[in-house]
Amino acid sequence: MDKKKRIFLASPHMSEEGYEQEYVKEAFDTNWIAPLGENVNKFEEELANYVGSKNAAALSSGTAAIHMAFKALDVKKGDIVFCSSLTFSATANPIIYQNATPVFIDSERDTWNMDPKALEKAFEKYPNPKAVIVVYLYGTPAKIEEIKEICDKHNVPLVEDAAESLGATYKGKQTGTFGKYGIYSFNGNKIITTSGGGMLVSDDKERIDKVRFWATQSREKARYYQHNEIGYNYRMSNIVAGIGRGQLKVLNDRIAQKTEIYETYKEGFKNIPEIEMQPVPENTNPNHWLSVMTIKENSKVMPLEIMETLEKENIESRPVWKPMHMQPVFEDYDYIQVAEKSVSEDLFTRGVCLPSDTKMTKQEQERIIKIIKELFNK
Ligand SMILES: *Cc1c(COP(=O)(O)O)cnc(C)c1O
Repeated sequence: MDKKKRIFLASPHMSEEGYEQEYVKEAFDTNWIAPLGENVNKFEEELANYVGSKNAAALSSGTAAIHMAFKALDVKKGDIVFCSSLTFSATANPIIYQNATPVFIDSERDTWNMDPKALEKAFEKYPNPKAVIVVYLYGTPAKIEEIKEICDKHNVPLVEDAAESLGATYKGKQTGTFGKYGIYSFNGNKIITTSGGGMLVSDDKERIDKVRFWATQSREKARYYQHNEIGYNYRMSNIVAGIGRGQLKVLNDRIAQKTEIYETYKEGFKNIPEIEMQPVPENTNPNHWLSVMTIKENSKVMPLEIMETLEKENIESRPVWKPMHMQPVFEDYDYIQVAEKSVSEDLFTRGVCLPSDTKMTKQEQERIIKIIKELFNK
């Protein structure tokens, strides 16, 4: 049998129309290759318009955006930051960059995101955290109204890590626009990509201007290089921003395609009682960046067998994120749960991220479904 073409979890998908190349060509034609320039300003403006935020700063990565959000909140040594445990490490690392202390919070089962009850419990134990950072896992909105209400009650600013959820909404409002700061990522496998990049959004113009200043090496307005503060080289380049402007034009198409992929899996597995898809919570429109399923506890087929079987067919899949409180690098930090059994650990053990590539054909997805169903019907 000849080697089948690899099917990816999620790969870059440029517009059929070539919008990205037009913007990049413009940058070349005007020799505006350096950081900053027209594409950067326009990408910031267009993204802010899309999500409905007043300001945006284009940065070199989503991680840099999270770092700048914490710096803008003056998170520093001795401060505590509440953080979703079930996430990618990039959510938590910037807490450490600022020499602060993370406290990890468990998930709930309806959305797989931060459990408002566990968050309440964390506030009882640590009444004065400096910030809360909530994650929208795989593009599914959290119980953000409840979370926001708890933060407001305690007067603590909220940061939304919407790296995976660009375009997803809760009651029609975009993820990333509920808290003081929201961040997005345009890394290679995200729903839209610039090869690498991020965005920080906020309604606070003064703070976003300040972030642009820090991210450009904290160069003071002076004829010579004058520095009164430590700076960072975190700005997005004009070339990269051109790709972003083109990608933004097809974001709604990608969401529609990802939603169809999710629905096709759901329909395909409906007669396999051991399989449950990540739920679509009430009042939400996820962007379905990745379609993820869990396998019931007493199933004869376990996630590892599914992933190994797919790999033999040159099909990529992977486990759900390993929670931060289980990571050796974060083992010294506290973890707050209210459920008797840790939800994040349970989802990690039973979850499988399925190929959700918008370049995948209908036939390829049917093949994946067939391979998985055969394991259960053996
Ligand atoms: C991808 C991702 C990030 C980091 O974004 P980069 O642009 O890769 O730095 C942060 N948080 C989550 C949840 C992510 O999935």
